[in-house]
Amino acid sequence: MFDVFVGEVHCPGCGSAMRANIQTYVRADDADGSSLVVGTSLDPKQLTSGRLVRLAYTQIAEPKDGTIRILDVWPCTQCNTDQWAMTTITDARVQSIEAVKLTQPIFERANFISDINGDILAEAISKEPGMPTVEVLRKNLPPG
Ligand SMILES: [Zn+2]
Repeated sequence: MFDVFVGEVHCPGCGSAMRANIQTYVRADDADGSSLVVGTSLDPKQLTSGRLVRLAYTQIAEPKDGTIRILDVWPCTQCNTDQWAMTTITDARVQSIEAVKLTQPIFERANFISDINGDILAEAISKEPGMPTVEVLRKNLPPG
């Protein structure tokens, strides 16, 4: 089971105002399909890096100052593309959900990326097989 981060965004692909639905496993066994909108409080005990990595995320950088930024995809039903979003959690509250173009600077701002979606993208853009996902993305994402 999973929950869903829900944010009002503009699709970077087609520009439409959309409601982004982003599957998330941050609540693990407590997940019940809830909509986690901006302002939702989460359990800080569930947001440790070790736990997030075990659940569904690849770590890019250790979170600092109580802020956790997570990259994951959402489907734009207007232009039928998968788009990226950055969910920011500050002091265990959902602070913002933004649609983003996944560039190097955006990637370097994030702490975690969906392990499945990060691996899929890394496989698609990798130039050297066998390199870890974070390294592939760091090297091969567009500079912005
Ligand atoms: Zn779109």
